[in-house]
Amino acid sequence: GGRDGLGAYISKPETYPSSVVICYNEDFVAIHDMFPKSSLHLLLLPRDPTKTRLHPFEAFEDVEFLAKVKTEVQKLRKLAATELRRKYAKGSAQEQARLAALTADSPPDELPLGRDWEQEIRCGVHAVPSMNHLHVHVIAVDRYSERLKHRKHYNSFSTPFFVPIDDFPLAPGDPRRQPTQEGYLKWDLVCWRCGRNFGNRFAELKLHLDEEFKEWKKL
Ligand code: 5GP
Ligand code: ZN
Repeated sequence: GGRDGLGAYISKPETYPSSVVICYNEDFVAIHDMFPKSSLHLLLLPRDPTKTRLHPFEAFEDVEFLAKVKTEVQKLRKLAATELRRKYAKGSAQEQARLAALTADSPPDELPLGRDWEQEIRCGVHAVPSMNHLHVHVIAVDRYSERLKHRKHYNSFSTPFFVPIDDFPLAPGDPRRQPTQEGYLKWDLVCWRCGRNFGNRFAELKLHLDEEFKEWKKL
């Protein structure tokens, strides 16, 4: 429990049901976040004992390790995209157009591409993690979840506090290295989709996120 709560998944992934541990191998474990901050929220846990206790900025200084993590993150991103497609494609206008073209009496030469759900997934770490074991978030952009309960939750995925895995290795002078990152959590609440600023009005933002979620999934 507590800040070491992710350790058990790394040491004994085989003891969890597939609803919790999605998959694992010698080097990584992929799990569902227990308090998801979006409609889909996964964590990738590297198992390397020399890395798992390090701050992500330090762990990712090792370029060989970073490359391995990036490869594995990309696999999990694809898996997450497949899951979003499974959940939402039926209601999506882009997917309906594609299906209509596919099944038309005289199909067009160029079929419309289906929606690229990989674009709807963010992968990265928190500048100041709350959990001790190294983990990478793989999270749908929607931020639609009952578990998203206050401004810090929202801003930890909506400001530079969230550092995309593709931004590593960070430059030595990158501002996100400063010990002032916690200030990001106090920024105004800005809608991820339309950019509307809600100041500190969290309840209003939550209602708005419901509306954005409906639009986003049927795009
Ligand atoms: P951090 O803020 O450290 O980057 O994110 C830690 C994540 O771990 C959070 O999203 C939190 O919901 C998740 N979490 C915390 N405790 C547990 C746990 O015991 N099991 C699982 N699966 N996720 C957890
Ligand atoms: Zn909006």
